[in-house]
Amino acid sequence: MIGLISATAAGAAARDRLAAAWPDRTRVYDGPVADAVRAAFAECEQLVCFLATGAVVRLIAPLLGDKVSDPGVVCVDEGGRFAVSLVGGHAGGANELAGEVAGLLGARPVVTTATDSVGLPGLDTLGFPVEGDVAAVSRALLDGEPVALEAELPWPLPPLPVADQGSYTIRSTDRAVEPAGHEVLLRPPSLVVGVGASRGAPADEVHDLVTGALREAGLSVKSLAELATVDAKAEEPGILQAARRLGVPVVTYSAEELARVDVPNPSGAPLAAVGTPSVAEAAALVRGGELLVPKRKSERADGRPAMATCAVVRRPGRGRLAVVGLGPGARDLLTPRAREELRRASVLVGLDQYVDQIRDLLRPGTRVLESGLGAEEERARTAVAEARRGQAVALIGSGDAGVYAMASPALAEASDDIDVVGVPGVTAALAAGAILGAPLGHDHVSISLSDLHTPWEVIERRVRAAAEADLVVTFYNPRSRGRDWQLPKALAILAGHREPSTPVGVVRNASRADESSRLTTLSALDPAIVDMMTVVTVGNTATREIAGRMVTPRGYRWQGES
Ligand code: SAH
Repeated sequence: MIGLISATAAGAAARDRLAAAWPDRTRVYDGPVADAVRAAFAECEQLVCFLATGAVVRLIAPLLGDKVSDPGVVCVDEGGRFAVSLVGGHAGGANELAGEVAGLLGARPVVTTATDSVGLPGLDTLGFPVEGDVAAVSRALLDGEPVALEAELPWPLPPLPVADQGSYTIRSTDRAVEPAGHEVLLRPPSLVVGVGASRGAPADEVHDLVTGALREAGLSVKSLAELATVDAKAEEPGILQAARRLGVPVVTYSAEELARVDVPNPSGAPLAAVGTPSVAEAAALVRGGELLVPKRKSERADGRPAMATCAVVRRPGRGRLAVVGLGPGARDLLTPRAREELRRASVLVGLDQYVDQIRDLLRPGTRVLESGLGAEEERARTAVAEARRGQAVALIGSGDAGVYAMASPALAEASDDIDVVGVPGVTAALAAGAILGAPLGHDHVSISLSDLHTPWEVIERRVRAAAEADLVVTFYNPRSRGRDWQLPKALAILAGHREPSTPVGVVRNASRADESSRLTTLSALDPAIVDMMTVVTVGNTATREIAGRMVTPRGYRWQGES
């Protein structure tokens, strides 16, 4: 819940806008400001104070505990010009909230935590536990001192400006080691504990079994990702309570799936009870990984039979491949999601000219693997190989990365041991369409005239089909120095089915600095103005030029009847 506190009429007006926009997320605290701040601080995860920062500092100073548990506090000035993240920037979410509040009020977010302002990811924002001297190591990163990364456990991390050696260390490990001085331990969720339990097994027994197994194997409970078991135990109170105490979810699998897992210690008892010869080992191993602790039973002080079993598995970090479309060129046609993925990746793979388009957005420490035109297969292979090594990779392409671009060769290479996310981009046909008017208002196709990878007969057959079906056609890769006869040929095929006066839009470098466009007709188009930076959109038989714009009606009948 976000507590809202204001003192003046202007503050109350801004407060009410927030309350109206987020009715389920906010609560208004009325009454004397000091009391309101104290109450909200105790009851809410976040506060937005429409008060001067000085006043808020004085009010919350005696209430502050530590940055892990304190609420995030944002201040908005009387003029509604700034949303200042005051405390709890990371853990309290105040930096993000400042951005949201600013967006809503038309204010400017003010964020002063060092890592955010220089574009470094905060070590405490990686999404999993960290231990050790976070402040000193963050400071060293900021000051450009050498910080070494020891990735004992490969895991997809955002870029960190690290060196081979340094007096400071960031170490990713799931082993139960203590951080040395000048060291931060990252605890990625690499450990899965499979659990079996008889009905009514006490939570303490399950909990102690799990923590004891981890401790004896020298593993950190902070890297525990989940407790895994069989569907039939999904509601077993002892398992659910132990998981809650450990702060991890319970994940269940069907007995059939578990029965198929090859385990070292199958037995008859679970087979009879739930239909699989192994619960603990099979549930831990079912998604792959390395068995670190084979099945063991709980020990009971009273000497009665054990009611729980467990087994520990280390799952390899799954690399992440983001296939990111950058849009046609203009920065404001790059989606926020694409921007986020670029900052999340520690390895960026792409054509050099596309890398140039976004280089300034990359975080310090991003490893850039750029190559020249034509190396598509190799780029795809490189991106997938890096992801399989456990890295967070972004593979970029202009427009949409799935349209005549890198997504298909990359996914043709990719195996199911990596996570893949696609970020759509504004493809050239859409960017051009918006410049020309509304040429794509009815059914349309894109056809690439590049016969490097596709035989010309195939391309010609498709152009012919589009001509006969009266589709609006956008030609990608329309013409280059070495490929100059294909466009006239394709236009001639369309001209066999459309009037010479059919509108044709030619857009070069859509949304880039030297953008140009021309609206002409099938008979008047001079192919010489077309090159590889251009798309050509040919209208259908209903497309018209209206007030200098290219317009394809929504539907012939609808148009005719109106
Ligand atoms: N993935 C890209 C297309 C790659 S194929 C996309 O979705 O847009 C390359 C062809 O796309 C070029 O030859 C040109 O025809 C077209 N193209 C790409 N960007 C363009 C732009 N900004 N303006 C005009 N055409 C563009």
